[in-house]
Amino acid sequence: MSEDRFDVIVVGGGLAGSAAAYTLAKAGVEVAVIERGPSCGSKNMTGGRLYGHSLKKLIPDFEQRAPLERRITKERVSLMSAGGSTTVEFDSNTLGGDKASYTVVRGKFDQWLASEAEALGATYVCGIRVDDLIVRNGKVRGIIAGEDKLEADVVILADGVNSLLAQKIGLAGPTDSNKVAVGLKEVIKLSEQQMKDRFGAVDDNGTAWLFAGDPTLGSIGGGFLYTNKDSVSLGIVATVGDVEYSETSVVEMLNRFKEHRLIAPLIEGGELLEYSAHLVPEGGYDAMPELVGDGVLVAGDAAGMVLNLGYMVRGMDLAIEAGHQAANAVLYARRRGDYSRKTLSSYKTALENSFVLEDMKLYRKAPEFMENRRVFTRFPIMLEEIMRAMFTVDGESSESLVKKILPAVSDAGITALAKDAVQIISAL
Ligand SMILES: Cc1cc2nc3c(=O)[nH]c(=O)nc-3n(C[C@H](O)[C@H](O)[C@H](O)COP(=O)(O)OP(=O)(O)OC[C@H]3O[C@@H](n4cnc5c(N)ncnc54)[C@H](O)[C@@H]3O)c2cc1C
Repeated sequence: MSEDRFDVIVVGGGLAGSAAAYTLAKAGVEVAVIERGPSCGSKNMTGGRLYGHSLKKLIPDFEQRAPLERRITKERVSLMSAGGSTTVEFDSNTLGGDKASYTVVRGKFDQWLASEAEALGATYVCGIRVDDLIVRNGKVRGIIAGEDKLEADVVILADGVNSLLAQKIGLAGPTDSNKVAVGLKEVIKLSEQQMKDRFGAVDDNGTAWLFAGDPTLGSIGGGFLYTNKDSVSLGIVATVGDVEYSETSVVEMLNRFKEHRLIAPLIEGGELLEYSAHLVPEGGYDAMPELVGDGVLVAGDAAGMVLNLGYMVRGMDLAIEAGHQAANAVLYARRRGDYSRKTLSSYKTALENSFVLEDMKLYRKAPEFMENRRVFTRFPIMLEEIMRAMFTVDGESSESLVKKILPAVSDAGITALAKDAVQIISAL
């Protein structure tokens, strides 16, 4: 890296970073993105499903140009017990309408978004880790990477979950292990015929499937499966603070998940293409750091912008919108020639008026609900008992349906279930 100067430096070439760089480069601003991985998308990870709405605002024809895997037309949610599962499925070829969601593989997708920003004039420097920030008179004025220093009017921190840089300048506190989860993912290649037979994957139709229960053996977390063009992204997410005390490691959870009777036939004969691990911020709105400082803004996972509602996980659409809004705030500050915290705070106002902070606030109780261990232990067993009672005909006892399922509900505790229901309603 040379002793150079840019108008803006973005740390991290993920979706938040590249959305910011794209917006700034389009406005003619000299922007450099510093990415520690050898290429964009090589160090970060996702489960696999991008809600396309915020990218569509940025790049209206992205659906024609981006390397998308499949359009999600099938939603599934399963509660798993050791030997069974109960699944809810919703299938519609118009799911999402003109705001559809797609499976993506980050290695390809992030490089594409970076190339779009580069085509507009953004500079990408890959393979360099930013170690620290240049701070002068309390204002962030650039970055330090090893022996190198690079100055700028303003720095956007889009360096992902557990941003050490945001911590160093006091915008974020130390990471709380109960507010982050660890994700383990495998990408497994299947043939075109296997994709069709196992997931009904015709044309570009795709499936998003989330799981809770048995695989995490009572730990807070769950599994996911997304269908790509000719592979599936399959993984486990578990809260770090919980896993620390669990007798089962996340690797064992993933193996147990893969061996479950619901999953094993779906991946049988598949070839492992990729294996990765990554953290996910899961603390919600109340765990977010300060978003703005003098000469600095924080966007995406670095700012804890992830929503895990059990039936859906979102972070990528929030990261794109936040990167875009961070760039807009920089453009506003440039016009005023003032990069103070006060002026850059237009970023926070824009996020408050957008779905990013509206949704983060709306679902601020979701992390509390996700910490309800009964969802991962008692619910799957209760549902299995209800299903078994409903669908078993033994020719011995003739009982009404209510009488058949009552023991399962009583075992789970009627008062506790009522409390769970109230918690679910207030969280979602
Ligand atoms: C297991 C798992 C499943 C998920 N499932 C989904 C899903 O299905 N849908 C969804 O929308 N979201 C999902 N998410 C969340 C989503 O992946 C993130 O919210 C999203 O990637 C955030 O983008 P970002 O640009 O903020 O951060 P990242 O994509 O993490 O990018 C940060 C970048 O900064 C770089 N970097 C970090 N530190 C430095 C440094 N010091 N110097 C230089 N570069 C640095 C990293 O290498 C990385 O490229 C999932 C996450 C995980 C882990």
